[in-house]
Amino acid sequence: MRLVFLGPPGIGKGTQAERLAGRLSVPKISTGDIFRDAIAGKTPMGLKAKSYMDAGHLVPDSVVIGVVEERLSREDVQNGFILDGFPRTVPQAEALEGILSRKGLTLNNAVLFEAPEEEIVRRISGRLSCPNCQRVYHSEHNPAPGQTAEGEPLCACGARLVRRKDDLPETVAERLKVYRSQTAPLVNYYRAKELLVSVDAVGSIEEVTHDLESRLSPGKSYDHLKIKRGDR
Ligand code: AMP
Repeated sequence: MRLVFLGPPGIGKGTQAERLAGRLSVPKISTGDIFRDAIAGKTPMGLKAKSYMDAGHLVPDSVVIGVVEERLSREDVQNGFILDGFPRTVPQAEALEGILSRKGLTLNNAVLFEAPEEEIVRRISGRLSCPNCQRVYHSEHNPAPGQTAEGEPLCACGARLVRRKDDLPETVAERLKVYRSQTAPLVNYYRAKELLVSVDAVGSIEEVTHDLESRLSPGKSYDHLKIKRGDR
């Protein structure tokens, strides 16, 4: 399965991408994670991306497309992939189509996660991220698995969880604005190609995964998706 996940920041698509990727045994490829790793490693690409990310803006298409092209040239995408947070602009979507068609491939679906704006803001404001392994938690929906003696939340990998700099309220408002102007046009782009499926992102993590799976497999058996029924 080759999927792209679309939706506003904070809607929970990363969490769903992680879960579905595990069940399908395909890699989840998050451009945001790739940039955060590059920033942590102080690479030239990370330094370039940082100022855009901190301001809530998009990293330029030329940079992101190069990153994705390199990532999709690796062995582990042979059985498919889930792209989380890419494409975010129409030129990125066109570039992806070009990269895949050069390999004789197409996307199976573009999955749009939808929720009212108040819910999105509520989710981002409770979000806690791991600077070490990039796992994401939420103070209510998906609490941190541990805490320090002082009550600070800890990740499953043992690192202290933090609020991402771009999850602070001023930056979130800018990211939502950027989403509406630059990324939302992808909905019509993929609808016109008959690849779009919409998922209601309001509900528990399990409910959303259930909805997601049912939309990806209309009339197809779970064997096709390599998902075991008892696996939910
Ligand atoms: P995310 O973790 O997907 O919310 O991404 C965090 C930030 O990384 C975004 O706000 C952008 O600054 C940058 N970024 C991630 N993916 C892309 C992309 N496909 N195009 C441009 N910028 C991106």
